Amino acid sequence: MFTEILGINDESVLKAKYLLLSGEIVAMPTETVYGLAAVATDKDAVKKIFEVKGRPIDNPLIAHVHKDFPLETLVYIDNDYVYELKRRFMPGPFTMVFRSKNVVCEEAVCGGDTLAVRIPSHEGCQKLLRAVNVPLVAPSANLSKHTSPVTAQHVYADLNGKIPLILDGGKCGGGIESTVLDVTGSVPRILRAGLITKEMIEDAVGKCEIAQHKDGDKVRSPGVKYRHYRPNCETALVNTAAEAVSLYEKEKAAGRTPYIMCDDEIAQSLTGYNVLNLGKTDKEIAFNLYDRLLEGEKKADIVIAVSFNREDGVYLGIMNRLRKSCG
Ligand code: AMP
Ligand code: MG
Repeated sequence: MFTEILGINDESVLKAKYLLLSGEIVAMPTETVYGLAAVATDKDAVKKIFEVKGRPIDNPLIAHVHKDFPLETLVYIDNDYVYELKRRFMPGPFTMVFRSKNVVCEEAVCGGDTLAVRIPSHEGCQKLLRAVNVPLVAPSANLSKHTSPVTAQHVYADLNGKIPLILDGGKCGGGIESTVLDVTGSVPRILRAGLITKEMIEDAVGKCEIAQHKDGDKVRSPGVKYRHYRPNCETALVNTAAEAVSLYEKEKAAGRTPYIMCDDEIAQSLTGYNVLNLGKTDKEIAFNLYDRLLEGEKKADIVIAVSFNREDGVYLGIMNRLRKSCG
């Protein structure tokens, strides 16, 4: 199959709409990472997503809708705090899990009784969602377990020949996947951390829990149990710059090409070393994380990541991705 990459305009959106409504899957930009979209009620198209990605069949998909789409046609809104969360964080990098009305096909939710819904803020994505005017399920547009794509070129590297179209909306502004929040209970619960933080949710509605995924627990969000986000090279996760340097020297002495991935402050102290600089602030680090990992897999035999050793705010989501990709 020939894979076309098109910038977003009326014509390419019409083409994507036509492909989607005729059962094809199409890659689209969002403000978090690129998504691989299918019409959520089309079970054969949804199956294609799982096949093309090699995604485990028990890991449900998020339904994406435009900002005027009536959520109550898809899900039951059981708690009033949902309205305030929607008002504050939607459209945006924020997904809520509701009891499903089973409009979306069961392949998309892996036979479960809940549905995750997101309203992306990316303008090009909104344009497509409005054009199709049906929910699109869309996991990240990469091969399962690989690092998530934040440019159309990243998508192409993984899915060339497997899908007909990639809509190119530039580099994703967010950089890590949406926060996933279970809103079926009286207190909202974070299933996956992201750019909308526990602190922000508490500020909006008072309370917010973080789901603890311990061994033996019934897993509420299956995606969290898998190895994920890994670049196609060796990785290591260390606690300090000194540890990174010591491992770097050992790798170098063995004739290999190491790269150290770290924040800007550490990067500035490492002149003469191969460095993947993630930037200064939490937002910059999230924005750069997957891009640097995908740069790393091209250049390095091993990426040595330096931990941020903190879990407040956006760092909770960053550290979750860093442990899975490099730990
Ligand atoms: P991805 O689209 O690959 O970034 O993954 C979507 C994430 O949302 C995964 O961690 C899924 O397990 C989670 N998810 C999707 N639908 C549901 C649902 N109905 N209940 C709980 N978690 C969900
Ligand atoms: Mg993914």
